[in-house]
Amino acid sequence: MTGVTDADVFAAFPAVLIDRDNIEHYRGLLQQRLLINRCSSCGYWVYPHRPLCPECWSWDIVPTEVRGEGFVFLCTLIHQERDPDAMLPEPVPAAAVELVEQSGLRYLAPIVNCPREAIRLDMPVRLTWVDRGGLASPAFEPAGPIQSGR
Ligand SMILES: [Zn+2]
Repeated sequence: MTGVTDADVFAAFPAVLIDRDNIEHYRGLLQQRLLINRCSSCGYWVYPHRPLCPECWSWDIVPTEVRGEGFVFLCTLIHQERDPDAMLPEPVPAAAVELVEQSGLRYLAPIVNCPREAIRLDMPVRLTWVDRGGLASPAFEPAGPIQSGR
């Protein structure tokens, strides 16, 4: 799927404030590519998306695909949709996944294909895509065997 226009991105994410700094990230999601802004001068990953590298002050920021590997840094259960009257049938585990590219580079996404009670901090995970309202949405699943028990 190439040639995703700006209008396509705005139409696909009506609840997101799309701007110059994040539009390539969302365009990437429509192509099932996880793009994070990266500094071309020093290699630092800049996330949340900003136009200026906080490490070297370069404006040469390029959206770059990550490998989609990381580990669970933090995980919590989400019980409702944005609409407070719309409770989810089951709580959804939402994690801050620390990506292998850089210490402290953390991406928020649901954990899937894993029983909730088996989710562990520091568990290795990998990127996958799940259907969310007709759109492919990034999620993470265990990268290795799931440990059961406590
Ligand atoms: Zn830099």
